[in-house]
Amino acid sequence: MAKRQVPVKKNQTIQLTFEDLTHEGNGVGKIDGYPIFVPLALPGERADVRVVKVNKRFGYGRLEHIHEESKNRVTPPCNVFYKCGGCQLQHMTYDMQLEMKQNQVKNVMQKVAHLPDVPVHPVLGMDEPWRYRNKIQIPVGEKEGELITGFYQQRSHRIIEDMETCVIQDELGDNIVEAVRQIGTELGIRAYDEKAHRGELRHIIVRTAYTTNEAMLILVTRTENLTKQAEIIERITKKFPEITSIVHNINSQKTNVILGKKSQTIYGEDYIYDKIGDLEFGISAQSFYQVNPTQTKVLYDKALEYANVGKDDIVIDAYCGIGTISLFLAQQAKKVYGVEIVPQAIDDAKANAKRNNMDNVEFVVGEAEKIMPWWTKQGLRPDVIVVDPPRKGCEASLLEAMIAMDPKRIVYVSCNPSTLARDLRILEDGGYKTQEVQPVDMFSQTSHIESVVWLER
Ligand code: SAH
Repeated sequence: MAKRQVPVKKNQTIQLTFEDLTHEGNGVGKIDGYPIFVPLALPGERADVRVVKVNKRFGYGRLEHIHEESKNRVTPPCNVFYKCGGCQLQHMTYDMQLEMKQNQVKNVMQKVAHLPDVPVHPVLGMDEPWRYRNKIQIPVGEKEGELITGFYQQRSHRIIEDMETCVIQDELGDNIVEAVRQIGTELGIRAYDEKAHRGELRHIIVRTAYTTNEAMLILVTRTENLTKQAEIIERITKKFPEITSIVHNINSQKTNVILGKKSQTIYGEDYIYDKIGDLEFGISAQSFYQVNPTQTKVLYDKALEYANVGKDDIVIDAYCGIGTISLFLAQQAKKVYGVEIVPQAIDDAKANAKRNNMDNVEFVVGEAEKIMPWWTKQGLRPDVIVVDPPRKGCEASLLEAMIAMDPKRIVYVSCNPSTLARDLRILEDGGYKTQEVQPVDMFSQTSHIESVVWLER
């Protein structure tokens, strides 16, 4: 019945004026109040749109012809922007990206957290929002006897063959990938074939350290052996002396997960080293490390400002990774406890504390949502808690533990505004008041949004 009220039909071409953007960066235009989401359309534009999907409450369209173009429309510098799913916003000015991200955060603060009055500051953006990523992970395929590398086409597992370079990726990483592709082809290495679950080389991953210019190369294979390992090592390190670590990772499973459980260093060190401010960090292959080094400093400075830790304070850093935020907190606190689920990351965190001569930190491997309630039972009562969860946000048991621990202050670092807003509502109901929200642009050209939030008891 409701379907009859939908004012458009599939495959119909209509003219739309766009008013808004969704959180994915799609343009929103309405016909008789019925919203149609159109990738690549910008607010202020008027365009012909082909309706491609009709749902009860909203539809999707494809941009056919723009009659009135937004002054914020720019030509994407990437030659495969329209195919690749990696970036969503290269067609708009950077100013518009930042404004859109601030609006998205404001929006969830109102609608999900029910905090219409909380200050959401303008997004802290980059001076140069390109070539910032320090990590590239790229699938390997084969064509006419050559290895090919490229990201997958949107919503598919087809490798984009004509990707020349990734414009948000650090150039060194990009160049190493291309060299491995060439060397691999010359040595007759076979790519992994996903459908048949045969072949060898699955992914090439390169991590580069911004301050030291060191690079780590990770080769992920289905097979236990890496064919012509010695030759690969010799040729690639000769070409790129920046490579100080090569890791062979084995992933024999039929899975979309990139890394397998088994890794071994086949050249150089187990780590690459990078500096953030005055601290030095060793990063191993399996550990998380922020992907935008210039903005990491901006993000952490804000988190530290909000945490406002005093010399007698006990602090918890939940989801601590390799202990980056923990060690900055420990420079100001009496004691810092970190918890993290990946054992290698906790090994790195402990080594990083030593490397920086810090002994007022304690790191524990485990699920934060289990360790936090356990710490509460043990009587741990921190003055300040910092959390930095993955996209799905915090588990209820962790939020409850935070409230039970009764810290005077909480700093919530988030890479997903929706789960952030959901969790803030729970913390508010538990007696905490959100003071400020500061979005930081860690993922320029993409629709991802990072924020830091300050709450007081
Ligand atoms: N604060 C760190 C890491 C943030 S990323 C930094 O800035 O580098 C989130 C981290 O949470 C990752 O290291 C991930 O391995 C970890 N993680 C994911 N789920 C977890 C869980 N349930 N419990 C504890 N840590 C978890």
